[in-house]
Amino acid sequence: MYTILIVDDAKDSLLLLEFDLQTAGYNVVVAQSGQQALELLNTENIDMVLLDIYMPEMSGLVTLEKIKACSNSKNIPVIMLSASDNEDEIVQALELGAVDYVIKPYINKVLLARMNTAFRLAEKTAALEQMAKKDYLTGINNRRNFYALATKSIAYSQRYQHDVVIAMCDIDHFKRVNDQYGHDAGDHVLQEVSKILANAFRDFDIIGRIGGEEFAVCLPETSIEEAQIACERLRVNVEHADLVAPNSNQHIAITISIGIALGGKNNLSLNELLTQADQALYQAKNTGRNKIVAFSQEHLLKQSQSPHQNYACSSSQDMPLVPLHLDDDILTSGEKISITEKESGDYPGINTSTGINNVLGDNDLFEQVLQMFIEDHDQDGENLAKAFADNDIARMKHLAHTLKGVSSSIGAMSLYKATKVLDEAINDQNFTEVELLIPPVSEKLNEVTEGIKAKLTL
Ligand code: GH3
Ligand code: MG
Ligand code: MG
Repeated sequence: MYTILIVDDAKDSLLLLEFDLQTAGYNVVVAQSGQQALELLNTENIDMVLLDIYMPEMSGLVTLEKIKACSNSKNIPVIMLSASDNEDEIVQALELGAVDYVIKPYINKVLLARMNTAFRLAEKTAALEQMAKKDYLTGINNRRNFYALATKSIAYSQRYQHDVVIAMCDIDHFKRVNDQYGHDAGDHVLQEVSKILANAFRDFDIIGRIGGEEFAVCLPETSIEEAQIACERLRVNVEHADLVAPNSNQHIAITISIGIALGGKNNLSLNELLTQADQALYQAKNTGRNKIVAFSQEHLLKQSQSPHQNYACSSSQDMPLVPLHLDDDILTSGEKISITEKESGDYPGINTSTGINNVLGDNDLFEQVLQMFIEDHDQDGENLAKAFADNDIARMKHLAHTLKGVSSSIGAMSLYKATKVLDEAINDQNFTEVELLIPPVSEKLNEVTEGIKAKLTL
């Protein structure tokens, strides 16, 4: 049963209203002043407020303003009751967040109908808000909400210098699940993995589906060792899960790879932590899958050294994949500007501080990494164009994937973004777009390689 708070300084109005609402089946709480109403909103569970505009001491408009300014009460629908039809006041009340107004003396039926409409509107708004936050398939946080919640959690950890861990989880060879058992079975697996994920972590850990078969977890107040234990629980539970294809009753065996990165005291942003966790995940994929890897500066070296070995992969399904897709719209405009500014530093096209940060501030190591970058990737623009001309999808996929991972490692953020878009187009097999996207990648790569060569006099 809904509880309505009615606020009016006139006792006779209150009595009448109370009687009418109770007759209509509502639970009624009465306040004779704005002040009393605010107190009751704190102590009672109120579903709607009917608020008189003219009251001595605190007026209805001031009371409304205070109701809307308080996070506990701001979502409660408020209908204004006014003895006059002073348009300015009504407009002001609506602007302050009232859902509706009713002129006194009110007609019972009209008031009840308007209350009904206001309730329906509030319910729909709440449902829409939920929908905007949850992933439609799995019901866990979608990417946008994960980013919103994890950003807050990381800011809190930084402020109090506490540990926080970001984990990136990617189902291994998920494409095969779709290919072998069908897309519905794939969807079923995603739903089941989400449940396992929710069970493996604590209630206050934040989990989200941030891509097709990619999940991220933010673990506040957690050391890297503790995160490893929690992720191991997840890994084992996934490996031993009894998953059955909905249509064929066949058992589906899957595994998951996880990369983790530590934040908090190092003041790394969510995007930086996701990139590090992603690099660790890349390493997990590269070294056998079904495992957890914590980020360390060594990844960078291994990543830079590995392309030729990787290229020996026989099928495209064995390709190492960097699954994180950082959406531009997730970066705030402030962050976008800072990247551009920082990139104009020592090496053209490179955000030097990010790059050096990735090797824990070791300048010499950073230079070595840049040298390796030139050795391994100098020709990637031409290689991509050739692979495209040869219609060699696996090679294109591999080149774009590796370049994407390595460019983010060295802090070449523009190149990273351009390659990320190309990588997605290749994955989507959108070759009209791929053709258009290779030249800008080439151009950005050239800027980076020429800059490094000039500086390191290679
Ligand atoms: P790896 O071990 O390297 O991660 O290999 P993978 O096959 O898991 O990775 P890849 O990124 O190549 O393939 C991911 C697949 O996930 C491709 C795509 O069709 C599938 N996928 C993405 N979203 C959904 C979804 O919502 N439902 C289903 N059924 N499949 C999806
Ligand atoms: Mg996968
Ligand atoms: Mg993936």
